[in-house]
Amino acid sequence: ERKQVIVITPTYNRALQAYFLNRLGQVLRLVQPPLLWIVVEMTSESAETAEILRKTGVMYRHLVCVNKNNTNVKDRGVHQRNAGLEHIERHRLDGIVYFADDDNVYSLELFESLRNISRFGTWPVAMLAQSKNKAILEGPVCNASQVIGWHTNEKSKKLRRFHVDMSGFAFNSTILWDPRRWKRPFSNPIRQLDTVKEGFQETTFIEQVVEDESQMESVPPSCSRILNWHLHLDAHGLVYPRGWLLQKNLEVV
Ligand code: UDP
Repeated sequence: ERKQVIVITPTYNRALQAYFLNRLGQVLRLVQPPLLWIVVEMTSESAETAEILRKTGVMYRHLVCVNKNNTNVKDRGVHQRNAGLEHIERHRLDGIVYFADDDNVYSLELFESLRNISRFGTWPVAMLAQSKNKAILEGPVCNASQVIGWHTNEKSKKLRRFHVDMSGFAFNSTILWDPRRWKRPFSNPIRQLDTVKEGFQETTFIEQVVEDESQMESVPPSCSRILNWHLHLDAHGLVYPRGWLLQKNLEVV
C-alpha cells in the first residue's frame, strides 16, 4: 500500500500568492495519490485561496489559525505550521509529513521520494547565498543512506544542532503520537515553535523527534540530487505600472 504524503503549506495574501499556489498545486497534482495538501492561512480564510484550491484537483484541507498567544516572534508561517501539525494529530492522519512553503520550487521526484521515508528523512536544499551570485546547499552530507555531517553556511546559524532548511526534511506522522515506537527522545508533546528564535525553528523541531543522525535517512540515498530550491523570490512592496488595477492576489491563468 502506498504511503500517504501530507504537505503543510502556510500561505498569506500578497501579490504573488496566486502564482505560488498555482505553481505548487500543479506539481502536487502530478504526484500519485494518496496525497493530502493542508493549506493554512492566518486570521481568516481568503476567497482567492479557496478558489485556487478548489481548482487544483488535489485533495486538500483549507485551515485558518489565529495567533492566540500573541507572541512577538517574527511569524513567517510558524503558527500555521503548528496548526497543520495539530490537525494531523487530532485526526491521527497517517503519512509522511512535509512542510512546503508556497514560494519554493519543488520537483515531482521530491514528493515521490518522500514515500521511501520510514521514520525521518532529510536532504540538501539549494538556495542562493546572500550575495545572490552563488548557489549553496543547506542540509545533510551523506554516505549512502547515512547522514554523516552538514553543510553549514551562515555564520549566525552555526550554533544549530542540525543544519536543515524547513523544506529539507519530512517525517512519519506517527512520531507525533507514538514516541515509543520510534524511540523519540522526549515523551512530552512536540514543543510549539512560537517561542523559538528565527533560524532555529527547524533544528528545535528536529531535536524533538530524533536523537541524532543515526535515526535519519537520506533522501535519495547519498543525497545525490537537488530536489528543491529555496529562492526567496518574494517581492516586497511591489510597485505596479501606472494604470494597472491589481488586487492583492495576482491572477494567473
Ligand atoms: N508566510 C505566511 N505569513 C507571513 C509570512 C510568511 O503565511 O506573514 C508563509 C509564506 O507564504 C511561506 C512561508 O510562510 O509559505 C515562509 O515565508 P517566506 O518564504 O516569506 O520566509 P523565508 O522563506 O523568506 O524564510
